[in-house]
Amino acid sequence: MTETTQEKVKCLIIGSGPAGYTAAIYASRANLSPILYEGMEPGGQLTTTNDVENFPGYPKGITGPEMMQDLKAQAERFGADCRWGLVTKADLKASPKKITIDDEKEILADAVIIATGASAKYLGLESEEKYKGSGVSACATCDGFFYRGKEVAVVGGGDTAAEEATYLAGLCKKVYLIIRKDYMRASKVMQERVMKTENLEVLFEHNTKEIYGDGVVQGIKLVKKQGTPEESIVDIKLDGVFIAIGHTPNTGVFKGQLELDESGYIITKGNTSHTSLLGVFAAGDVHDTRYRQAITAAGAGCKAALDVEKFLMEQ
Ligand code: NDP
Repeated sequence: MTETTQEKVKCLIIGSGPAGYTAAIYASRANLSPILYEGMEPGGQLTTTNDVENFPGYPKGITGPEMMQDLKAQAERFGADCRWGLVTKADLKASPKKITIDDEKEILADAVIIATGASAKYLGLESEEKYKGSGVSACATCDGFFYRGKEVAVVGGGDTAAEEATYLAGLCKKVYLIIRKDYMRASKVMQERVMKTENLEVLFEHNTKEIYGDGVVQGIKLVKKQGTPEESIVDIKLDGVFIAIGHTPNTGVFKGQLELDESGYIITKGNTSHTSLLGVFAAGDVHDTRYRQAITAAGAGCKAALDVEKFLMEQ
C-alpha cells in the first residue's frame, strides 16, 4: 500500500443511518473533523421505509429517504466528510485503528464509531434465492411499485411486515400476510391497521415451504398448522413475495476483534457506546437488539460522538 492511499483522521464513522449521521453532526460540531463512510446502503434501512410517523419533530411524518438526506445535509453543514465506500478490512486492535475502504484506501483513525446497522434476513429457501429480483423482495418501498394491481404476500409478523403489508395493500389488489405463529408480534397500532385493511388477509400459523414460478414468481406453497394433526398444504397464486422477518447485524468485517453477542450484535459497556476495544464505539441497530428505532439510533449516535470526544481528550 502506498503513502497516497493512507489518510489519518481523529474520528472515523462507519455507516450512514440515523446513528452514523447523528454521530457525524455531533463530532463535526466538536471539531473532530469526522469522515463518514456510507457503506452498502447509503442512508441505511430508513431509505427502504415509507413514512416515518414516530420521529419527534415531524407532525405530518416524513419519508425515510427524505429524513436521511436531511440528516446528511445537517452533518455536512458542520463539515462532516461523508463519502461513498465500503469497509473491506479492519484492524481495530491497532493504534491508530486501521480501516481499509474498498480494498484500496487505508484510514488510520484515533477513534472509530461503528454504526453499520443491520440487514434484512431471508427465509433461506432455494426457491427464494432463485426468484430474488424477479418476484422476491425484502423491500416493499423499493419494489412495491412493480406490483400495482397484483397479488402479493408478505412473510413475517413484526412491525416491518405489518408496515410493508399495509403499504402494499395501497398498491396491490390483494395482500396476504403470512405469520408462522398464532399471534402477531407487531405493535398494537400496526396490528389494528392491518386488521382494518380490507384487501389484506392475515394467515396465522402458516409456514412458507416454497415459492414457485416460471422465470417469475407465480405462487407460494405454505404449510398450515405445521406439525399438528391438522397440517395441510396451502397453495396461493400470486405475483410477488416480500420477506420481512427481521435483520442481521452488519458486523462480519469486525468478527474476532470485538465482543459480539450470539447473534453478532456488538456488546457495549453499560449505558455507554464503548465496546470491548478502547477507541472503538458502537451506535444504532448494530448493537441494539431491543429498541431498534430511528430515534434511539440517533440518540445512540449522539452518545457515541460524545464518548469519542471525551476519549480523545483523555488521550
Ligand atoms: P421482528 O424481529 O420484530 O419480527 C420478525 C418477524 O418475522 C416475527 O414475526 C418472526 O416470527 C418472523 N420470522 C422470523 N423468522 C422467520 C421465519 N424463518 N419464517 C417465518 N417468519 C419468521 O423484526 P421487524 O423487522 O419486524 O422489527 C424489528 C424492530 O424494528 C422491532 O423492534 C420493531 O418494533 C421495529 N420497527 C418499528 C417500526 C416503526 O415503529 N414504524 C417499523 C418497523 C420495525 P416470530 O414472532 O414467530 O418469531
